[in-house]
This record gives sequence, C-alpha cells and structure tokens, in this order.
Amino acid sequence: MQITCFGAAGEVTGSSYLVTTAHAQVLIDCGMFQGSPDDDRRNQLPRDLDLNQLDAVVLTHAHLDHSGRLPLLARHGYQGPIYATPATIDVAELLLADAARIQESDAARTTRQRQRAALAPIAPLFDETDVVAVMALLRPLPYDEPKSIAPGVTVQLVEAGHILGSASVILTVAEQGRTQVAVFSGDLGPRGAPILNDPARIDTADVVVLESTYGDRDHRPLAETIAEFAGIVTQAALNRSTILVPAFAVGRTQDILYHLAALFRAGAVPQIPIYLDSPLAIAATQLYLKYPQLADAEAHTVSRPGQLWRGLDTLHRCVTSAESRALNGADGPRMIIAGSGMCTGGRILHHLKHNLWRPEAVVLIVGYQAEGTLGRLLVEGARRVQIFGEPIAVRAQIHTLGGFSAHAGQSELLDWLAPMAPRQPHVMLTHGEEHARSALARQIAERFAITATLPLLNDRVTINRVSGRAAHPT
Ligand code: ZN
Repeated sequence: MQITCFGAAGEVTGSSYLVTTAHAQVLIDCGMFQGSPDDDRRNQLPRDLDLNQLDAVVLTHAHLDHSGRLPLLARHGYQGPIYATPATIDVAELLLADAARIQESDAARTTRQRQRAALAPIAPLFDETDVVAVMALLRPLPYDEPKSIAPGVTVQLVEAGHILGSASVILTVAEQGRTQVAVFSGDLGPRGAPILNDPARIDTADVVVLESTYGDRDHRPLAETIAEFAGIVTQAALNRSTILVPAFAVGRTQDILYHLAALFRAGAVPQIPIYLDSPLAIAATQLYLKYPQLADAEAHTVSRPGQLWRGLDTLHRCVTSAESRALNGADGPRMIIAGSGMCTGGRILHHLKHNLWRPEAVVLIVGYQAEGTLGRLLVEGARRVQIFGEPIAVRAQIHTLGGFSAHAGQSELLDWLAPMAPRQPHVMLTHGEEHARSALARQIAERFAITATLPLLNDRVTINRVSGRAAHPT
C-alpha cells in the first residue's frame, strides 16, 4: 500500500490523500487550499491523480479544506462513488453550494476588472453545476458500518467529534495475501466539547495519518474558557460594546450559541442582543436539529433534543444583505457572529471594517487562524490591516478563546493515538503547520517510541510493515 499526500503537508488546508494498493485506488478527502496568494494555482486536481484508476472517494467531513476540490472531480469526469456520513452529505451540500456562489461572483468581479485592462476573462474554480454533479455521486455511509468500496478495500467511518457528521476513516486493505489497516484521523475534536460525542477509540492500525493542528499545545480547560467568555460578555454589556465573533458556519457557531444559551439560562450574563449574520450558519444550525441522534448525553440532559439553544430569546437571524448592512450603524451592547471563520471573506469583513478602529469594540477569536489570513494578523497584534483595499486601524480589543477550539489539543491527539501505539504503526503527521507537527512528532517519539513521518506535498509513502519499517518517501 502507498499513501500519496496531495495537501495538508506542513499546513492546515488542502487535505487529500490517495491510497494505492495492488488492486485499487481510493482517495480520502479532496480539500481546498485556503489563505495563501498561491491558492488559485494550487486548487487544481493533483497531477498524479488518474481519475480513470480511481475506484472510490471517502470524505471525512464537510469543511471546505477537506471537501472543496470535490466538484473538480465531477467536472473532470469522475463518476464513481463518494462515501460520507448522512450528516456530512447535508452539510457538504450547503458549504459547496455557498462556495460555488462565492467563486462565481469573485470570478465575475475579477473578469470585469480584467476587461477594463484588456485582459482575458477568468473562470471560477467550480460553479453550481459542478456542485450538483458531485452531490449526485455522494453515497451515505452511517457511522460504524463496514462497507466494501473497492477490490480488497473495506471502509468504516467512526465518530471524530469535530463537527456534525465528522468521521475518522478506517480502511482495511487486503493485497498480496495480507491485510493492513490504514486509519485517517480526519479533523479530531476535543474531548468534552458541547453537542457532539467525543472521538471514537480505535485500537488497531498499521498506518495512521494524524492531524496536528494543535500538535504543539493544549487548550485551556473548557470551564475556564467559559468563565472568560462570560466575563467578556458581561464587560461588553457594561461598556455597551459590539463583540464581533468570526466563526465557521458549521461547528464553532453552534458551540458559541450553545454556551451563550447555557449562560443566559443560568442568569450568568446579561441577555445582550445576538445577531447571527450568516445565512449559511443559520441553515447549518437547522441541520444540527435534524440529527438529534448525533448529540451527546450532556446535550440531551440540558435540553430536550431539538432545543439545544433554548434560552436564546435575544437571537436575531440576519438572512438578507440589507439586514446585515443595517447592523453597521447600530450601537452595542451586542454580539455579531459572522463568517468567514478566519476573516478571509464574508460578512465579518464589513463588520471588522466598521468596528476594528473603535477602542470599545471587541473581537473574539474562537477558532484556528491559518498563516496568511486576516484573522492571524489580528491574533498576532497587527496595529493596522487592509480591508477591501482600505487601511483600518486596529484599536479594538482582540481576545483569543482557545478553549472553544473544534480541534483536539496535543494531549488529546496523543491519547487518541495511544490504543493504536502498541503495534508500532507507521504514523504520518499532516494538517498542521511545521512547528506544530514537529512538536507532536517529538511527543510521539518520547511517549510511544515511534518515529513519525512528516510528508511533503506529493510525497508517496510506501507502507510495508513486513519489513518492520516504512520506506522513505519517494
Ligand atoms: Zn475541519
């Protein structure tokens, strides 16, 4: 078996891995690169991917950095199955359709600019037709049901605890008279996060492809983070401030609403107006209600299934852009939750432009901010940023609440790996910046005496456990 790394090699976006056996080829994820000026060039199908040889695709979860290049498969003629959990299929349809609309309007705007410079028009990466075509290829595969998907290859999806429908992938590969197990973590959630179950325990693997987003650190305990969150909301109410929360439409948004609802119900913070300024997040929140069986026991005890956000009487949903624009002139106290989660586009940019320069405003960072994004600049203390080509002073307070992360911290990644470690699997670390995955590699060496591989883009790693060691990347 060989595993080729088509993305997320020393960075957090572009996840895609090709598994090649003697009899089959299976692609795990086909994600988009995000946050770098080079993305247009990189967001193509990998050169070494032959769609005629591809038997099946498996999608771990719907976030675009795992799903965003799927429409290109359909556009280039792939007609085979794409397996994902039923919830992931619903979420992917929302996110891909939204991405197509953004790509189309961005391409139209750039084309207008280029026309004025007598340059050729540009096409969007994919459009809504490609999304319809790729959605027709998705096949629901519930958690914990093994399924044969290609000659000699069986797949099983298990809970990853990251967002609604998120899965880790267990591939069992039979070739040349032996059987090997390849485990792909996908994105792993933290233990004890609200709403979703914790990541499933996996006991056996010959090779583990493990994410390392927070491979270099642990998050603050959730209880401390909630207390800090409550303090920020209370202070903002006193100061009549606007709190801006850049949030992924799927995952972070629902968690923030969940914590707010709990604080409101407990009377722990003043019930300030909350604006959910994202049609996408509004639709995604409805999907969480469609799958009450995926909610964890805690979510079931605090409120009946389907009422996860009971107590949020001050929640306003902004669907139209006119409703969004109406927020510009208004005063606090209030909280505005809008995408994109790393401030790379979307309605949050307008709110940042109108509020970053105000000393009483607050920006609450609740998710990972990749290198090169506006969110990362804010976290790193930039005093001035460019938004829509305009210089904006940063006088607002920037708070980072790491404990609300949708990703496992370092200790949780190690604990997830622990049951598989006694067999000394080959471990490949991906989906993390270099310093994060190097730090995790050191911990894995120390705790399990396993030397992890840190693959580069397009590296092909041969998994050959008969020799007891994996070959070096070619
Ligand atoms: Zn994700």
